[in-house]
Amino acid sequence: MAAGSMVVIFLGPPGAGKGTQAARLAEDLGLVKVSTGDILRDHVARGTELGRKAGPIMERGDLVPDELILAIIREELAGMPEVRAIFDGFPRTTRQAEALDALLAELGAPVNAALLLEVPEDELVRRMLKRAELEGRADDNEATIRRRLEVYREQTQPLVEYYAARGVLRRIDGLGDPGRIYCRIREAL
Ligand code: AMP
Repeated sequence: MAAGSMVVIFLGPPGAGKGTQAARLAEDLGLVKVSTGDILRDHVARGTELGRKAGPIMERGDLVPDELILAIIREELAGMPEVRAIFDGFPRTTRQAEALDALLAELGAPVNAALLLEVPEDELVRRMLKRAELEGRADDNEATIRRRLEVYREQTQPLVEYYAARGVLRRIDGLGDPGRIYCRIREAL
């Protein structure tokens, strides 16, 4: 089973381009893109119990509790005959990363790479404000953007060291044309 497994994680602050790059990589490598943000937004739109819990937290720019996120991940992994996945926006806390490692160990599918998209903060804000115009995401407003960046620094940034220590971290320059950024990602893999 482990022979054909592949697990790639997209790390990086909000607005770094994780979703865009993850979608393209998933398509090219035949992997399933698992975006916890997209899954949560779908629950909010459908008004499910999870959506009603997560919606107000997301609007503030805070993190949804680990337990709720891990339930989503367990369900996604359970549906895969063999783990071939790209995680976009997950894990975001050390607890999530440890739980993912435990789940993957059970499935015999280690993390192959954690890609860190590096983009300066002023560019992140610029991109998210532009996305607000295009997609109208409820959390792409200036106050929430600031909070999301702070939450990233405090709760998610430690994962850079976590994956570096495991020898799977790849730093990618996330500035410039999306096609060129994608080339850098392919080279890094
Ligand atoms: P994203 O689309 O990845 O930027 O996620 C949008 C929002 O969904 C975040 O600001 C969080 O409130 C929530 N969210 C998404 N993924 C996670 C996660 N792995 N852990 C906790 N909250 C998350």
